[in-house]
Amino acid sequence: MDLSHLDKKYFIDTRIYNCPFCRRGNVVYRIIDSFIFDWSNESKVFGYLVKCGSNGCEKISLHFSKKELRKTTRSEYGLTLMNEFKDNIDLDNEFFYSRPTSFFTIDERINKKIRDLVFEAEQSRQANLLVGGSACLRKVIYELLEFEKSILRDKKTGHANYQESIRNLKNKFPKK
Ligand SMILES: [Zn+2]
Repeated sequence: MDLSHLDKKYFIDTRIYNCPFCRRGNVVYRIIDSFIFDWSNESKVFGYLVKCGSNGCEKISLHFSKKELRKTTRSEYGLTLMNEFKDNIDLDNEFFYSRPTSFFTIDERINKKIRDLVFEAEQSRQANLLVGGSACLRKVIYELLEFEKSILRDKKTGHANYQESIRNLKNKFPKK
């Protein structure tokens, strides 16, 4: 069975996730805190702090959802919320904001301009601003080409030819 789609997920199930900090896959996490706040006059948002259980990492990420996602258990006092997410829900779909997002925790070796733009693109996507998000990503590519001095210009017009430039960048870093 092909399980590679699980690598692309943030939360795999109620116990296991791919940690955005230590980048280890399939590690145990736990909810260490949760809270509700007023997102606006009309809506409330549920926040969860999730801690990586991987030895030496133990970093905490933040996740917002429009729904209460914790399990309830029946006790003598009625229903009590547990510090665990409900079964059988796709947590990645339920969170509309996570910090850090799973894939773009870019480390400091990458130029800051590029990191900032990728961060902006993520924020746009999370806010459903897809045009803005793709504009940011396009800028990331332009910046990267410039940074790597890979821009090729049209000899007549002097304008950058990005298609050729991307090919040029690809040739600079052939797969080993
Ligand atoms: Zn971790």
